[in-house]
Amino acid sequence: MENTSNFIKTIIEADLASGKHDEIITRFPPEPNGFLHIGHARAIITDFESAIQYGGYTNLRYDDTNPSKEDDVYVKAILEDIRWLGYEPKNVYFASDYFEEMYDRAVLLIKKGLAYVDHSTPEEMAKDRGNVTTPGKPSKYRLRSVEENLKLFEEMRAGKFKEGECVLRAKIDMASPNMNLRDPALYRISYAEHHNTGKKWCIYPMYDYAHPLEDAIEGITHSLCSLEFEDHRPLYDWVVRETEMPKVPRQIEFGRLNIENTVMSKRFLRELVESGKVKGWDDPRMPTLSGMRRRGYTPEAIRNFVISTGLSKVNSTAGIDMLEAAVRDDLQNHARRAMAVINPLKVTLTNYDENKIEYVEVPYHPEDESLGTRSVPFSRHLYIEQDDFVVTKPNNKYKRLSLGDEVRLFNTYFITAHDVIYNEKGEVIEVLATYDPETKSGSGFSLRKPNGTIHFVEASKAVKATFNFFGPMIIGDDSMDLKDRFNEDSWHVKKGFIEEALKDAKPQDKFQFLRNGYFNIDQDSKEDDIILNEIVPLKSSYK
Ligand code: ATP
Ligand code: MG
Repeated sequence: MENTSNFIKTIIEADLASGKHDEIITRFPPEPNGFLHIGHARAIITDFESAIQYGGYTNLRYDDTNPSKEDDVYVKAILEDIRWLGYEPKNVYFASDYFEEMYDRAVLLIKKGLAYVDHSTPEEMAKDRGNVTTPGKPSKYRLRSVEENLKLFEEMRAGKFKEGECVLRAKIDMASPNMNLRDPALYRISYAEHHNTGKKWCIYPMYDYAHPLEDAIEGITHSLCSLEFEDHRPLYDWVVRETEMPKVPRQIEFGRLNIENTVMSKRFLRELVESGKVKGWDDPRMPTLSGMRRRGYTPEAIRNFVISTGLSKVNSTAGIDMLEAAVRDDLQNHARRAMAVINPLKVTLTNYDENKIEYVEVPYHPEDESLGTRSVPFSRHLYIEQDDFVVTKPNNKYKRLSLGDEVRLFNTYFITAHDVIYNEKGEVIEVLATYDPETKSGSGFSLRKPNGTIHFVEASKAVKATFNFFGPMIIGDDSMDLKDRFNEDSWHVKKGFIEEALKDAKPQDKFQFLRNGYFNIDQDSKEDDIILNEIVPLKSSYK
């Protein structure tokens, strides 16, 4: 829960205190033209938390006023992601549900002399708009009569005109210093099939006309949106007022959340998906909520991160380290801890009975008994990390295994390396060691201090696993063209082993592998083909 105060809550509390509203109603209005990303989480959390805290509610409203780019796949994914974040909309609506009422309200504007059909070409319109320093020039169609406009608008709806041939425009002020008020378009023609209304309509309301009406129809009290809509607010208010909507929503803007070296434009993300550069919207490298979920991020971590960035009136950019810290903070308390060997090196304990295998019962978490325990096997044949062995100890700071040195294996015994076996390339492929039966973990043995503690997986029971590691998806800086910033080298695969006890792990099970980091079982993982995604490395490695 977002308990801290912020400028939006201050407004809401004043509106409740003055009796302006009895109930707070907000909405989250995504356009179903892509999957939600971490920036949307900022908006979702702000919309829902601003209402929940005052006993109000939030609608999910798909802003589907642009038929050509929208799709039911996105509609489904968006709701799934909102629920995953932990929020349930009170109602799920579509802007297209209101097309009829929007049309009627446009007719009202025409009757009031506040809207006209303009047959200027898009080029003429752009030219006549002027710029910040030059006032716009009224279109020659601005003086059309109410009757003529009513007839032409009806004909637009009936499909008498081609795409781009004409638009319905608001008649406001061609000299306004706010460009948005220079007779903005309200309706345009499009013959694209709409995902909801099919071919029923060939005129579609523009965002700036549709959005305030959607809010007013639903009785939204506070319409929270990102900063780029600030200059549109006078138009928003104009639309609600002049269409004579009984309920008057108030638009309030907040700063967008950006993340360092992360591109959140849906257009760009869609390009990555469509060009096959990533494996889909839920590719674990993507900043989408579904990608982050697949990678192993938890909704709690994302919520805590977003809330910790603070709600502000200016756009802000958070470091990726803040996001990673939030994930670690959450997972360190909840993820089961176990052992995995990612770059395996064989170890044979020459003094351990070939036919023997023993099991040690080990808790999954040192502080949380409710996470249970598992049996960790131990035998003559083990795997350790290649990185945890060197033939000759380089210096006294080296706290791993080397010839003649002794280390502790987590939860089991001390071992000493005596010999190595090389392959024909001169690489170490096996370490021969002995274990000391007196040093069994938990036996109270403490006479010797080993040269560090390393993890291992017993070989005969080890379960093969594929580990995916991810680098940043975007590299370079803002001076570069976005399409050149995709990091082709951002996905690395390793084949290693995990403990026997993890063989039944299911997608979305999360583990902290000792000394290796946090991992999530991928959704494509199967019993005989376990796939793990690295979520985040450990902050401080024990190495
Ligand atoms: P994009 O620019 O990536 O296409 P959008 O803003 O057009 O995103 P919408 O589907 O219109 O995407 O977004 C729904 C809501 O989420 C909007 O109210 C928008 O202001 C908000 N939103 C999107 N990105 C961010 C962000 N990075 N930070 C805060 N709010 C955001
Ligand atoms: Mg948008």
